[in-house]
Amino acid sequence: MNTSPRGRQFFFNPGPTNIPDRILGAMHRATLDFHSDEFLAIHRAAHAGTKRILKTKQNLFLYAANGHGAWEASLVNLLSPGDKVLMLESGHFSMSWEEMCKDLGIVVETIHADWRKGVDPAEVTKRLKQDGKGEIKAVLVVHNETATGLVHPIADIRRAIDAAKHAALLLTDTISGLGCMDFRFDEWGVDVAVSGSQKGLMMPTGLSLTGVSNKALEASKKGGLPRHYWSWRDAVKREPQKFPGTTPVHLFFGLEEAVKQMDEEGLDAIFARHRRFARATRAAVTHWGGGAKSSVTVSAKGFSGPVKGIEVLANDPARTSSSVTAIVLPDGHDANALRTVAIKRFNLSLGGGLGPLGGRVFRIGHMGDLNEPMLLGAIATVELALGACRVPHQQGGITAAIAALAE
Ligand code: PLP
Repeated sequence: MNTSPRGRQFFFNPGPTNIPDRILGAMHRATLDFHSDEFLAIHRAAHAGTKRILKTKQNLFLYAANGHGAWEASLVNLLSPGDKVLMLESGHFSMSWEEMCKDLGIVVETIHADWRKGVDPAEVTKRLKQDGKGEIKAVLVVHNETATGLVHPIADIRRAIDAAKHAALLLTDTISGLGCMDFRFDEWGVDVAVSGSQKGLMMPTGLSLTGVSNKALEASKKGGLPRHYWSWRDAVKREPQKFPGTTPVHLFFGLEEAVKQMDEEGLDAIFARHRRFARATRAAVTHWGGGAKSSVTVSAKGFSGPVKGIEVLANDPARTSSSVTAIVLPDGHDANALRTVAIKRFNLSLGGGLGPLGGRVFRIGHMGDLNEPMLLGAIATVELALGACRVPHQQGGITAAIAALAE
């Protein structure tokens, strides 16, 4: 096997993503004093631009941290030890956020769901109606489950909470959704949205954020866990939301440029591009599998039922992600072996299956700074790797992808 691939690495992990040269270029500059007027103008522009992408006129707090930091911020500002939350299960990332809650002393009740389908909002209404004493303080949901390619309909979940006339706050994780798919923080009545810089925002890892409704900000003044760095109470007093300590100026040089690039393309055009790329990827996968569609269900325990052909994991058309596609291999075939061939022989980096999906699933991230030749290159190379690994498949997925892009 050729173990020294040439050319640039083709990066198709669902995060971090490709950083456009103009963002890299914007960061390639001398440090500025973070109290200087010159820097504060950049800071303000980046902050305001991120609010436009999140579609909020309410509050936004940024952290020098990855998504886990912002996850923690969302919890410690609002929930006290012993408080109960309702977690909507979607896959590895809902389970990891759940683990974090438990470590912080928060009681989690989970609405379990097939990872291919997610939770029905009617179940949220039903459970909240039973909670006459208001013990459930928040509903937690991952908007775009990066491990499975499943999308939860956030506006419907808000409506489900309201239908129960329940005061629970709505906390969402849109780490791999923001900047790839529409997210309407204010219009959808979201109370907290957690996201990070390294996916749809096309930035290096290291900045994360919480969008916070005025209602959640008020609630945070009364409750929460001991906190300092993550505290919204103190952050709200600083303008433009300076950091406790040193501001990571280079990340702001990059973020200001990212926001400019996104403004130029336009959010609607960005979302449409992601939808097209996702459609083309699914067309290729469906072709490889010859249309195989098993009735397999997936949970924390793994797969139940046989998988006979390659298929898209989350294949409900109303809930498929625009930014990542998780692909199941037929029984007896190792998705990690396929990924090893892809990276070692062809220099194509793919995402792996997470948790119980390890070895069963690989993921193609189609998010951020991508164009047609890049996507087609990746899909063609996956087809090459399927052949090299002798995974049974119908050749011509790449033609199906081209046809989908041409529509
Ligand atoms: N939530 C989702 C949906 C994710 O995709 C990720 C990372 O991929 C995280 C949370 C955790 O973010 P981070 O790895 O930046 O801590």
